[in-house]
Amino acid sequence: MTAPNSQQSASPAFIGSVAIVPLLDAPVLMNPRHFLPRHADRFYEEFGHQADDRGLFTMSVTCYLVRSAGRTILVDTGLGPRRRPGFPPGHLDEALRTVGVAPADIDLVVHTHLHIDHVGWNTVDGAGGAPQLFFSNAEFVIQQAEWDYWMADERLHAPGNEHLRECVEPLRHSGRVRFVDGETALDEHLVFVPTPGHTPGHVAIGIVDGAERGIIIGDASHHPAQLIHPDWSPAFDIDPEQSAETREALFERAIRERLTWFAGHWPHPGVGRLVRRDGRRIFEPA
Ligand SMILES: [Zn+2]
Repeated sequence: MTAPNSQQSASPAFIGSVAIVPLLDAPVLMNPRHFLPRHADRFYEEFGHQADDRGLFTMSVTCYLVRSAGRTILVDTGLGPRRRPGFPPGHLDEALRTVGVAPADIDLVVHTHLHIDHVGWNTVDGAGGAPQLFFSNAEFVIQQAEWDYWMADERLHAPGNEHLRECVEPLRHSGRVRFVDGETALDEHLVFVPTPGHTPGHVAIGIVDGAERGIIIGDASHHPAQLIHPDWSPAFDIDPEQSAETREALFERAIRERLTWFAGHWPHPGVGRLVRRDGRRIFEPA
């Protein structure tokens, strides 16, 4: 694993007055046989040159710090400080320090969804090991459908869902959560964009200022390979057909509306534009 350093926290992108700073929590290794079991052979055929000598691919867990309308907003909170089977611990705390932001400076935490690699820094272990909120002044904004799905007893108490018990459940009685439904404005520039399929309440974050537009896509896409193969839905998309439709529609919208594209699992920092060239969708990094 690469040690995080300041070079991995890219400079801000701007959508008008809104600044978006990509912050790398951790690189993670992806095995196509687990990630895309039905398409792994094709994946190796077409993208095998990007694999390491074990046949693994590097993906990013990038969170986006957004400064909009006078507030400091964090979109997703990475893997967090704890060791989870199959994942490295994250370093978002260091990445924030690098850009001069303290945890207490975050006004708002916005979740695209509640998977293990998006909620990790919500809490840290306090005295006696009890989880305490890491962003001590933040309000959390969560889609009601997403909360209801993951907080159902059979998921909350399932083995392997420690991240829900440690990083999501403690929000319940914190008085800090605002639940919203679907397309909801966060301020005059930011709006939730329902993009279901990966999870039931999954949302992207649309950014608008004047004629400039961008979108933080959450996990609507995990890899640029999906530009060519939008139907390659990862094994952990809860509704793989719906996620493929969502992905295809989002790609086309991004091209049509010339959106600046922020993809947290694409190669860090995951910022650029989608364009069509010779009939093929490609990603032009910023
Ligand atoms: Zn993810």
